[in-house]
Amino acid sequence: MSKAQDKVVFVCQECGKESLKWLGRCPDCQQWNTFVEMTVRAEPALARPSAPFLPPQQLSEVEIDTAERRPLPIAEFNRVLGGGIVAGSLALFSGDPGIG
Ligand SMILES: [Zn+2]
Repeated sequence: MSKAQDKVVFVCQECGKESLKWLGRCPDCQQWNTFVEMTVRAEPALARPSAPFLPPQQLSEVEIDTAERRPLPIAEFNRVLGGGIVAGSLALFSGDPGIG
């Protein structure tokens, strides 16, 4: 892991515009000599919350959570969706141009 380094930025005292280099005139608020050098402490990247540990399971022991499906009037479409559309889900379909 790399050590976090402090960063130097220039901040306009009028409007808060940040710049990596000193500017005589702020491009946002058009004020002169408003940029002040500031040191920004680099925050270490937040640790990603880890997933809860689950012990390995046999496939035969895995419970299959079946969501409630709402059948649509097109039987073939229901077959593609696995029995119907799931409330709150998003299904993305694609096909060749002209497929309908
Ligand atoms: Zn400004």
